[in-house]
Amino acid sequence: MKRIFVAVVVIILLSVAQAAEKTGPKVYISVDMEGIWGVVHGNQTSSESPEYGPARKWMAEDVNAVIAGLFEAGAAEVVVNDSHGSMRNIVADALDPRASLISGTPKPLSMMQGIDGSFEACVFVGYHARAGTASAVLDHTISGGVVRAIRVNGQEMPELGLNAAIAGYFNVPVIMLTGDTETCVQAKSILGDALVTVAVKEAQGRYAAKNLPLDEARKRLREGAREALQKKGQVTAFRLNPPFKFELELNTSAQAELPTLIYLAKRTNPRTVEFSSDDYLKGFKLLRALIGLAGISYN
Ligand SMILES: [Zn+2]
Repeated sequence: MKRIFVAVVVIILLSVAQAAEKTGPKVYISVDMEGIWGVVHGNQTSSESPEYGPARKWMAEDVNAVIAGLFEAGAAEVVVNDSHGSMRNIVADALDPRASLISGTPKPLSMMQGIDGSFEACVFVGYHARAGTASAVLDHTISGGVVRAIRVNGQEMPELGLNAAIAGYFNVPVIMLTGDTETCVQAKSILGDALVTVAVKEAQGRYAAKNLPLDEARKRLREGAREALQKKGQVTAFRLNPPFKFELELNTSAQAELPTLIYLAKRTNPRTVEFSSDDYLKGFKLLRALIGLAGISYN
């Protein structure tokens, strides 16, 4: 009995010591695939294709360079959310072992699963431009076959804007984004100039890009992350003003039919549905549900 008591005291002391050690900021990373170094085509981002293997390795390596920079700048904890397709792209043991990995889908907050008010900063790695951007590698918004545009309070949003507003809901600023040059421009126009961006490639069309030399790309990712965390105090969280009006413009009129079964969604023209919400997270979840319904095909 006495031994058990001593063991319990030792365990408590060790965990207190461990918690005391973690004094630096906690950082959240959402990582997509289209904006990863080397990726220029959907075959590289689809698990069906033999080209997928190398791309998922590059994805882990881009993230690892960012994680290294964050720890150099004093991060105490890093959580990575795999945010592309199956969300099982990063082979778990390929990630820097200091970071936690959220893997798999579906997740209630999708590309932002796991974010909450305990984080001090958020980083987007491998992000891409919104649907209808030229020239940008694999531009789309959430679902290439379904979504033509998403507007919140009248502003057209790429995924980076929709997701930054989720971080903003929890008062967490987005401090850094990586992707192609056009995505970096889009990110700064929405999130502001204090955002650190690292372009690992320049699109030469939707399916072609000039990649930075590999070592240079990884160096910029690492240094960018370090700089971003060091100056995180200069960035404010991205918060939109309620009520939130979500407009979902679909690629075809048929895709607007099932979403209107949800009484909150109103069809405002043949291929657009809209709804309002006082709570951004509730609105975002409804938006995802409507996109899911729109994607059900009957032909
Ligand atoms: Zn993706």
